[in-house]
Amino acid sequence: MPKTSRKTFLTKALYLVTSLALLERGLGFSSEVRAENKPSGSIPEGLVPVSEADPTAKALGFHQDAKQTDFALYPERKEPSAKNHFCKHCVQYTKLNEGWGKCNIITAGAVSSLGWCSAWSQKT
Ligand code: SF4
Repeated sequence: MPKTSRKTFLTKALYLVTSLALLERGLGFSSEVRAENKPSGSIPEGLVPVSEADPTAKALGFHQDAKQTDFALYPERKEPSAKNHFCKHCVQYTKLNEGWGKCNIITAGAVSSLGWCSAWSQKT
């Protein structure tokens, strides 16, 4: 193998390894972020998630993922003071497991611990 060819091979291999390492770190980071924002734990047997089309859920602007809130309708949810306003911190929430609970107001299934609706009220 000529010397220049070996140098080219090593340079390309170095680029490849570096690129894969950076790619892996990037994907790892984004999956960590996604994992943080997903309810952990599977939905308890016999329950279904509340449909966001449920009339009560819809009337209250409920979303299983609080990030899906219509911020034009509920700008207060975007305020820094509302950053921990999730179902899991709401007085109406009864925890079933780490990711899911029952709501006293929207009762047609389970709500995500990371959900939100406009009836949110701080659990004391
Ligand atoms: S009332 Fe509370 S627990 Fe029920 S959906 Fe709204 S924020 Fe979640």
